[in-house]
Amino acid sequence: KERQRLDKILAHMGFGTRKQIKKMIKEKRVTVNGAYAKDSGMQVTPTLDQIIVDDEVVKYREFIYLMMNKPQGVLSATEDHFTETVIDLLEPMHAVFDPFPVGRLDKDTEGLLLLTNDGQLAHQLLSPKKHVPKTYFAMIQGVVTEEDQKAFHKGVYLDDGYLTLPAELKILQSGHQSEIELTIYEGKFHQVKRMFEAIGKKVIFLKRLSMGSLLLDETLEPGEYRELTEEEIGIIH
Ligand code: URA
Repeated sequence: KERQRLDKILAHMGFGTRKQIKKMIKEKRVTVNGAYAKDSGMQVTPTLDQIIVDDEVVKYREFIYLMMNKPQGVLSATEDHFTETVIDLLEPMHAVFDPFPVGRLDKDTEGLLLLTNDGQLAHQLLSPKKHVPKTYFAMIQGVVTEEDQKAFHKGVYLDDGYLTLPAELKILQSGHQSEIELTIYEGKFHQVKRMFEAIGKKVIFLKRLSMGSLLLDETLEPGEYRELTEEEIGIIH
């Protein structure tokens, strides 16, 4: 990606629609390398040419990385005719980058969801060969025991006959309603719920806490999100 139209670059950076940008250029609010931009179709190399809008230097970037605490009731998809999606929760300045969720959380699952437009990174994190660990907090109907811990460590058979990889179960609180943390190294459809079904128990609340070395920022309320820090971007690559 070298030379691109000026309006495309600015739209990508969240400065407005193509139409709005055309107007901004006409109003002499945009300079390229110190000279007023002449037209919105002007070819610019965003990584080399200096673009300034209203005295603000445009810091070009191709990729965006967002961490969301996904709320319940929202789909981790990009579009749906009936139900709100995680993309609908984004502000326009982030949505213009066309991010998509890296993997899926169920509609009723909360917690860490990474959104990016970096397809290569998404592919790496989701690759079944990479066994990226994912840790979940869950509330379980019924008593969770050491036997369950051993069963998950050996692997359990899901309803379709699939034998799960060894997973680590930590019992935080055991009672008529138990609290656990589970780390899995794969991501089958409804995996955590189906693993508990395999041992005759029901997940009543599920929240993802981490993916690889990326931890959910616990200051994010459900539905809130923020950009990853430079450091976090480093650790997931
Ligand atoms: N396992 C599940 O069952 N649901 C999720 O959303 C994630 C993992």
